[in-house]
Amino acid sequence: MTISPLETLQRVFGYESFRGDQQAIIEHVVQGGDALVLMPTGGGKSLCYQIPALVRPGTGIVISPLIALMQDQVDALLELGVRAAYLNSSQDWRTSRDVEQAFLAGELDLLYVAPERLLTDRCLDLLSQGRVSLFAIDEAHCVSQWGHDFRPEYLGLSLLHERWPHVPRLALTATATSATRREIADRLELNGAPHFVASFDRPNIRYRIIEKNEVRRQLLSFIKAEHEGDCGIVYCLSRARVEETAEFLCENGIPALPYHAGLGAAVRSANQARFLREEGVVMVATIAFGMGVNKPDVRFVAHIDLPKSVEGYYQETGRAGRDGQPATAWLAYGLQDVVQQRRMINESPGDDAFRRRLGAQLDAMLGLCETVNCRRQRLLAYFDQEIAPCGNCDTCLEPPQAWDGTVAAQKILSAVYRLWRERGQRFGAGHLIDILRGKPTDRVKQYEHENLTVYGIGADLSEQAWRGVLRQLLAQSLLAVDHEGYGTLALTDSSRDVLKGERTLMFRREPEKKARSTRSASARGKDAGIVLPPDAQQRFENLRVWRSEVARGHGVPAYVIFHDATLREIAMNPPASMDDLGGISGVGVRKLEAYGEEILRCVRE
Ligand code: ADP
Ligand code: ZN
Repeated sequence: MTISPLETLQRVFGYESFRGDQQAIIEHVVQGGDALVLMPTGGGKSLCYQIPALVRPGTGIVISPLIALMQDQVDALLELGVRAAYLNSSQDWRTSRDVEQAFLAGELDLLYVAPERLLTDRCLDLLSQGRVSLFAIDEAHCVSQWGHDFRPEYLGLSLLHERWPHVPRLALTATATSATRREIADRLELNGAPHFVASFDRPNIRYRIIEKNEVRRQLLSFIKAEHEGDCGIVYCLSRARVEETAEFLCENGIPALPYHAGLGAAVRSANQARFLREEGVVMVATIAFGMGVNKPDVRFVAHIDLPKSVEGYYQETGRAGRDGQPATAWLAYGLQDVVQQRRMINESPGDDAFRRRLGAQLDAMLGLCETVNCRRQRLLAYFDQEIAPCGNCDTCLEPPQAWDGTVAAQKILSAVYRLWRERGQRFGAGHLIDILRGKPTDRVKQYEHENLTVYGIGADLSEQAWRGVLRQLLAQSLLAVDHEGYGTLALTDSSRDVLKGERTLMFRREPEKKARSTRSASARGKDAGIVLPPDAQQRFENLRVWRSEVARGHGVPAYVIFHDATLREIAMNPPASMDDLGGISGVGVRKLEAYGEEILRCVRE
């Protein structure tokens, strides 16, 4: 006798009801259908294959690209009483053999395998001899050759369909532009399978994009003011910046670790393990870090360099707040980012079509940064989804003003024009600003730029304001980074319309600095964080201490035992009996049995 998907959800996972499309997806797969599932990070994809694997006879095979993370996933399932195992190259042959035998004997509900392992003859033969209930292809966007996570092994997965035409296949991803979606369906031969596209909105994440000046200081005060003691991720573009930022945070009392592809495998996995297992660790990383990390209580994701695409940015920020509790996505961006990225695109190998694609991705990212409207509306529009203004992003909470920057733009564009026309010279942003503001620097004197008619015509605006103008002109391609130069600036075809006065330009004005730091630091601190009444807070702390002991004893991350959200609910509504406790979200049958008494005791104390 099999139990239903809903009973499985409640008994095994301890959750009351399905979210969004979960039920429809699970029913479809239980009945043997293929599907393509698109849900944002934290949307609840895992249950979409775990529950069918428990309900259908046989073993569910989960193809997952990162062997370093399989163990945590399997540990979490074992804690729930699910019979799960993995096969990968980190195991010795004896362990592999035991897993293989368990599979053949029908003793596994779920088996995790890396794609390169799966495609070996040995593994394919093994699967043919046992009973497979479904194939789940996790991180399915890895099959996309244009995407940032392309993995050639994924291309081989189309053979599953040929060898096991009757076993349902489920491809899952959090990357969902329509182009990527079509590519996944094509390459995995999932044409004809329904696409379940969830809302990509993650309302608990507060989006904020600020103007960069001293970025490390800004980052530090952001963490100290809003996320002291929290677990977070800081993304940087280069390895050097990862190293120096991690060091800087450590010097300032934030426990930070570096992660990038240049570190040895042992260091990387040790740092990842600490991030997963210890509380309050900040990972400073390149985009090499994050896929497959499903730590639920990451409270912030900060970017100190401009990401290259909205798609990548949304995936990275989505790693915050998977548990549904408040979290922050913070990005600092400035003029130099735009110059640098435009330059990198100019210099990148590949044909024009490739560069155009990169340029379009950057433009979308810049549009998001410069918008005066709701950030979330912009983000979701990128995935073809519409929402009302969200009320939980910086532009909703503190609307920026717009100002007419036409004259300022004309001043700077004509400075660029004159330097080139009259003297055949091109310069970068800093020198242009010095000329406009009439600053007699050595460089200005060297080139006799005091004699230019534009010298000093921009003294009315601060340097900061001019950087803002330049940045926005670059963002809108009204100025270009010169192809040959080192970040020197040149006019574009559309610059002329502005110079001729045929276009009015409205620019974004950042909200007043002072008002922002005093007023909002406290306001933000309050609503971004989670505040419990004192006695509940005390119980919560006690439960956390208890949990970290258990986790250490089992050698698993704390969240594998219980999520913060579950502990918080227990602390808020202290259960008097096992029955009460079993009614709390996240407490399934197995965990109730294993930990119920201890929790009741801990709460009573
Ligand atoms: P994804 O793989 O899509 O990023 P997960 O499968 O890791 O997301 O789920 C995110 C979080 O939401 C997990 O902590 C999971 O336990 C929780 N979750 C998923 N579905 C439900 C549900 N129906 N009810 C309550 N919590 C859920
Ligand atoms: Zn908004």
